[in-house]
Amino acid sequence: MNENLNISDAEWEVMRVVWASGKSTSQEITAILAGKRGWSASTVKTLIGRLMRKGCLRAQKVSRRFVYTTCLEEPESLRQAVESLLTRICSKKIPNLLAYLIEKTPMIAEDHEMLMDVLRGKRPAAQVPCDCYPGQCTCHLHAEGTILSPHPHKEKSHEN
Ligand SMILES: [Zn+2]
Repeated sequence: MNENLNISDAEWEVMRVVWASGKSTSQEITAILAGKRGWSASTVKTLIGRLMRKGCLRAQKVSRRFVYTTCLEEPESLRQAVESLLTRICSKKIPNLLAYLIEKTPMIAEDHEMLMDVLRGKRPAAQVPCDCYPGQCTCHLHAEGTILSPHPHKEKSHEN
């Protein structure tokens, strides 16, 4: 499992086509992405090449054509993308982000109930430590008074 796949937004468009279809030729991928993004066959081929080098796609030759399949499952890739996003913010700020996502997400009653179950089953921690690098988060500023403090302020962690 690669922690740093870094699939770009453009590459993600290609991955979505192959995830949806199970297997696609570059012509099939181009047909969809020409419609959605106005991309040419050569743009799509470039993206396919990058994804092959990253080990995200594999090619198989079927009667003189390459057929592409994914080497990654969509849910796992989504999970990695979300976790990569979460490394960009302070752990203390994630609950606010979740609240924002929940507020703006349309959902049916079953989804609502699922989320309520998750929250009901969640045991609150006594506190959430700031895990940011000093100078990249206001938590440290407030805690130590300066971003130049050589020893990052450590909260008493893992007391939950
Ligand atoms: Zn922080």
